[in-house]
Amino acid sequence: MTYTKKNIAIIGSGLVGSLLAIYLKKYGHSITVFDRRPDIREVEFSGRSINLAMSNRGWKALKEVGIDEEIREIGIPLDKRAMHVIGKPQYYQKYGKDGEAIWSISRGVLNKKMIDLAERAGVEFRFEEKVWDVDLPKAQVFTGETEKGEWKTYDFDLVFGCDGAFSRVRHKMQRRSRFDYSQDFIDVGYKELTIPPNEDGTHKLDRNSFHIWPRGQFMFIAMPNLDGSFTCTLFMPFEGEVSFESIKTKEDAIHFFNTYFPNVKNDIENLTQDFFKNPTSAMVTMKCYPWTYWDKVALVGDSAHAIVPFYGQGMNAGFEDIYVLNELIGRYGDDWETIFKNYQEMRKPNADAIAELSYRNFVEMSSKTADPMFLLQKKIEKRFAAKYPEKWIPAYSRVTFSDRPYAEALAEGDFQENIMKQVMAIPNIEAIWESQEIEDKILNTLNNSIH
Ligand SMILES: Cc1cc2nc3c(=O)[nH]c(=O)nc-3n(C[C@H](O)[C@H](O)[C@H](O)COP(=O)(O)OP(=O)(O)OC[C@H]3O[C@@H](n4cnc5c(N)ncnc54)[C@H](O)[C@@H]3O)c2cc1C
Repeated sequence: MTYTKKNIAIIGSGLVGSLLAIYLKKYGHSITVFDRRPDIREVEFSGRSINLAMSNRGWKALKEVGIDEEIREIGIPLDKRAMHVIGKPQYYQKYGKDGEAIWSISRGVLNKKMIDLAERAGVEFRFEEKVWDVDLPKAQVFTGETEKGEWKTYDFDLVFGCDGAFSRVRHKMQRRSRFDYSQDFIDVGYKELTIPPNEDGTHKLDRNSFHIWPRGQFMFIAMPNLDGSFTCTLFMPFEGEVSFESIKTKEDAIHFFNTYFPNVKNDIENLTQDFFKNPTSAMVTMKCYPWTYWDKVALVGDSAHAIVPFYGQGMNAGFEDIYVLNELIGRYGDDWETIFKNYQEMRKPNADAIAELSYRNFVEMSSKTADPMFLLQKKIEKRFAAKYPEKWIPAYSRVTFSDRPYAEALAEGDFQENIMKQVMAIPNIEAIWESQEIEDKILNTLNNSIH
């Protein structure tokens, strides 16, 4: 296979842009990464840290370029959820089989590390250089101080838009005929808060758990950092009875944390300070198509598919894009048109599937967790899966601990949901859910279906 040296621009030095740079550099291409932000390695730490859960797909993409072990050193494995439910002592739910875990990693620390690795491989970074426009057929990039000011022009052979959910590169593609685009904000926002370490630097809560405080319409989560602190996220409606809008004063915030999160009482001072210091951010699902233009331009990561974060898969999906793209480069060499065509056709159904799964998880968390029939259904599924792990793989495991396509996880999930609908319709299910009859019903339906 031939790989002719190309002059390639990557717009965006986020997680996806920097990993893509590492991949493409391996083929000997000349790579320039533009970012409108300053070099995050030189910016003083702002005090806000977002944590991400890295799972199987992310690790697979990192392993392919030999950087997984280095990245594991900045992460903490979480093999279970720690559930903090009102009226119950804290309990744990194991994620998967023994040894299966998701990893808590600080987005900032990971991003710095990846930029370092890319730079070491010979990638050139141009920070504080915002891209305003792209000439798609010519693969030309225009940067400058302001939209109306003077622009610099750069000529490339290929341009990759890794510039996130509100991508400028996509914006340019959007202006073409037959470009599909949709964007949906949910009415829930999020805020990052911190639980500091104990005085001796240890963690205040179990270090190897993903902590969840489900409260119906809202939810609090915490993920550990290496320095003993936890990065927490409060998900809550923007407006309504219990909402970001309804918490106006320090007293309101103290009352809120005291009422709903009694076991973080000792940290309320810190949480309250963060509450008013940190912004409330919105969450969006963005879909578009096509993702590529001729053999010149391609969107990768959030610029092509932004999803709500309730499955912890946004970055993982972006890394998987790169993995697939790389396989296609290996297969088709210099034929970028075929590479791009296959890339978008292979990835689009999977991006749509993980968008749907993530949105459903949001609905499930916010409106179904108080529904007794829904909870009973989950109990029946869990019981059956524990007894027949080969026959009933939960969607969460398919998404998180396997590399089978997201679209398959969605289809299997729908198939299981159909079976459960029949089971839940059985009269008196509340009384007989643990019976042999119910187990046989699920087994028979599974055995008799061809799918
Ligand atoms: C609350 C929350 C929790 C999440 N949790 C998880 C999780 O647990 N697991 C997971 O896998 N994913 C998670 N995600 C998703 C994950 O953060 C994103 O999918 C991922 O960061 C996308 O990376 P990206 O490089 O495509 O885009 P971004 O990280 O958005 O990077 C885009 C880069 O492009 C630059 N840029 C933008 N416009 C321009 C321009 N015009 N010119 C030059 N540069 C530009 C930006 O400065 C930025 O550096 C979460 C997201 C949120 C919001």
